[in-house]
Amino acid sequence: MPEQITQNMPSYLDSENPGPWGIFLEQVDRVAPYLGELSQWSDTLKYPERSLIVDVPVRLDDGTIAHFEGYRVQHSLNRGPGKGGVRFHQDVTLSEVMALSAWMSVKTAVVGLPFGGAKGGIRIDPRKYSAGEIERVTRRYTHEISAIIGVNKDIPGPDVNTNAQTMAWMMDTYSMCAGATQPGIVTGKPIPLGGSLGRVEATGRGVFIVGVAAAKDAGIDLTGARISIQGFGNVGGTAARLFNEIGSKVVAVQDHTGTLYNPNGLDVEALLAHVKATGGVGGAANATAIAADEFWAVETDILIPAALEGQITKRNADKIRARIIVEGANGPTTPEADDILNSRGVIVVPDVLANAGGVTVSYFEWVQNASSFYWSVEEINQRLETIMLNAYSCMSSTAAEHNVSLRTAAFITACTRILEARQLRGLYP
Ligand code: GLU
Repeated sequence: MPEQITQNMPSYLDSENPGPWGIFLEQVDRVAPYLGELSQWSDTLKYPERSLIVDVPVRLDDGTIAHFEGYRVQHSLNRGPGKGGVRFHQDVTLSEVMALSAWMSVKTAVVGLPFGGAKGGIRIDPRKYSAGEIERVTRRYTHEISAIIGVNKDIPGPDVNTNAQTMAWMMDTYSMCAGATQPGIVTGKPIPLGGSLGRVEATGRGVFIVGVAAAKDAGIDLTGARISIQGFGNVGGTAARLFNEIGSKVVAVQDHTGTLYNPNGLDVEALLAHVKATGGVGGAANATAIAADEFWAVETDILIPAALEGQITKRNADKIRARIIVEGANGPTTPEADDILNSRGVIVVPDVLANAGGVTVSYFEWVQNASSFYWSVEEINQRLETIMLNAYSCMSSTAAEHNVSLRTAAFITACTRILEARQLRGLYP
């Protein structure tokens, strides 16, 4: 028996501005017609299982106390423990974290990892605080969410503005309270603490692997092909390096510090060094600075949005002159923009597959921690490639079978897996 859903409008939904959570709900509605009898259960995806809001009070370096709002949302635990990153950003909201946790449920299911979906965040601009303040924020947040996380319950990992050091502080805080070192409580840790080889580059490497597969399907020769990248952090930077290594040209990049263009290809290694030294692409040599809006109109073969959600909308989708979009970010494209891009024949490799490399190697890290047996980087990269390419070909054949976009195809596979588990488990009590 499917559950009976009371269709009250939840408090976090705003019909005027759907935001990331509204986008996810629309994506669920789009997939429902393809789920057969499982569609009876599809409303279950619209209700995150558990959402926690915490106060994070912290003593700042000047002696005053500041309060930050923190979140951990477990969207679905049907297929296994929750999994998903923790984001530090001044614009983080509960509804954004809900959407990001839901995309994690879909993502882990698309690539077949035995996890559900979860996400965390703190509403803070980390650039405004010292390393000591960020450490205290991280530790207090970890303590506040420790009631619902656990090695076999919900395993945080890195996301926007968090990194291996953040994960080390989270692991230490949780372990100190548990009275035992628990490496498997988070993934994306530094290597000496049980981190996995290949984890730092994994998301960018996954973007590259599916980007190459999509280019092959579209008949694009990647030698000399043009690549544009929004966001030049861990994901965008790694993807740039890997495409550069096979002879593609990174012709445009954009981040919060500027937008650069060079039709002959930017010097990627010099740009990576510039970003490391200055914190952004702005002011890098051998490139023309262009207006932020012009970035979308740059003629390119592959466009990689690798920053935040909601970047490709009905406002700029018809300006885009790319043949393929590979979504390194979570939720960069709105459903309206998806329709415009589909009608214009632009192939969109969706986030839930394209950026799944990170969580896939997080899964490898969790498995290595559980067995205390560590793998070589060759083995990790090989397993990552196999998982990404299998999921890519499953998505492509589902898209062809139902004549739908790659995003809807990925959602068909993922939602079928999640809802099958949901149906088999049944409703308690
Ligand atoms: N932040 C990553 C993502 O959006 C995953 C983090 C993790 O490894 O759990 O996919």
